[in-house]
Amino acid sequence: MSAFVLPKPITATVAGAAYPTRTTFDVVNPATGEVFATAPDASAADVDAAVRAAHDAFATWRSDPAARRAALHAAADAVDAARDEIAPILTAEQGKPLTESAREVATAAAYLRYYADMQLERQVIRDDAQALVEIAHRPLGPVAIITPWNFPLIIGTAKIAPALSAGNTVVLKPSPFTPLSSLKLGEVLRGILPPGVLNVLSGGNEAGAAMTEHPLIRKISFTGSTATGKAIAAAAAADLKRTTLELGGNDAAIVLDDADPATVAAGIFPRAFSNTGQVCVAPKRVYVPESLRAPVVEAFAALARNARVGDGADPATQYGPLNNRPQRDRVASLVRDAVRRGATIAAGGSEIAGNGYFYQPTILTDISDGTPIVDEEQFGPALPIIGYRDVEDALTRANATHFGLGGSVWSGDPERAAAVAERMEAGMTWVNTHTATSFDQPFAGIKWSGIGVENGRWALEGFTEMHVIHRAR
Ligand code: NAD
Repeated sequence: MSAFVLPKPITATVAGAAYPTRTTFDVVNPATGEVFATAPDASAADVDAAVRAAHDAFATWRSDPAARRAALHAAADAVDAARDEIAPILTAEQGKPLTESAREVATAAAYLRYYADMQLERQVIRDDAQALVEIAHRPLGPVAIITPWNFPLIIGTAKIAPALSAGNTVVLKPSPFTPLSSLKLGEVLRGILPPGVLNVLSGGNEAGAAMTEHPLIRKISFTGSTATGKAIAAAAAADLKRTTLELGGNDAAIVLDDADPATVAAGIFPRAFSNTGQVCVAPKRVYVPESLRAPVVEAFAALARNARVGDGADPATQYGPLNNRPQRDRVASLVRDAVRRGATIAAGGSEIAGNGYFYQPTILTDISDGTPIVDEEQFGPALPIIGYRDVEDALTRANATHFGLGGSVWSGDPERAAAVAERMEAGMTWVNTHTATSFDQPFAGIKWSGIGVENGRWALEGFTEMHVIHRAR
């Protein structure tokens, strides 16, 4: 297969135009381990230019909801039209299969369309002889959007679309591991959104920090690790900037004793290994009753052995590489550590030779809580299957974590499963599925997994502040 080559460098977008930075950094294709492009490396001065552009555009953008609606529909159409151009870029920088990249671009367009028509109506909360009291929602101003490397476009547009629809302007900074698809989004939308409404910069963590510290930024919407989320919360506190933080997860899936092993494995495996396990809300530890552990492990192991791992540009590939070398090395070291502590590898268990950041889909068992691969977020293709004594034991262990993103319960009896799911400490719990989301279903973590909500009208509310208008009579 011939290596992907960018037809021309992709530039940053500030004030509706290409924006040159003094320096660039390399972007690596994780399937080959080779540099295939460079991206602009934004300095603090470049961040300042982008934030000022967003600030300058705010007054006009916030004042005309009809113009916003039309521009967001046009933006959605433009992203759809550019799908075949953006998808290979996303696969080259991220590693995921091309069909999934194409779906990600289509989802990005759909987010823009979904929020184009959504408005928060004024609400009358009192209308009597003494007063008329109304609640309105106002935009906040320039918003900093900072994204991770697993779903740069879906996560980016899940924030951009409600932010812009509510009347804010945006500075977007994707992860330095996956800058190009977001920069391309900026290029595609130049001339469609008014200048300064959406500015896109790439750069390292310092550029992100400069955004969070900038006095003209009024809200930070961040998705990424819990450690960075805490740093951002601290930076925001100094200026009382509003935040939405979607952070890490360590979701448990609890299998009840009446479940069918093959059905459970067929349900959990694709959700745990999708995007090569680099999904915040994927099942990351599976609790099974001891009586079912052997057949469940074998059903998972069979699926892992048959999974087709390869370059995302190859149409036969189901699972691509890890996105970057540090992440591949982290997964490898977590598995090695588990084996040292006595875990059994039922499938996989090692790196795949070559220059790409590939790792075999791996199933571990004979392992318990207190082991880093169970207690921490592995964010990769290695899944521990843990035996439990009874449901109380499983719930206690599932909930004994700082994380609280999602969780699931699997059973032939959905009512029984729902009663257990209610007791999971997570923002989202599923019965006989996991990871299932939609535009209108709130997406939110509790505990260290986040603050604030994505999707539906809740995301729109998160990009506004309440305005109370009280008229005396
Ligand atoms: P990360 O926290 O390392 O980086 C995310 C982004 O933050 C990058 O753009 C990075 O440049 C920027 N950044 C880093 N330090 C910063 C700072 N001090 N100030 C401002 N910006 C800074 O995360 P990652 O490794 O790219 O992504 C993986 C993590 O993201 C996992 O923990 C995963 O669970 C989480 N995630 C969560 C969700 C969710 O919705 N809850 C979704 C996807 C990924």
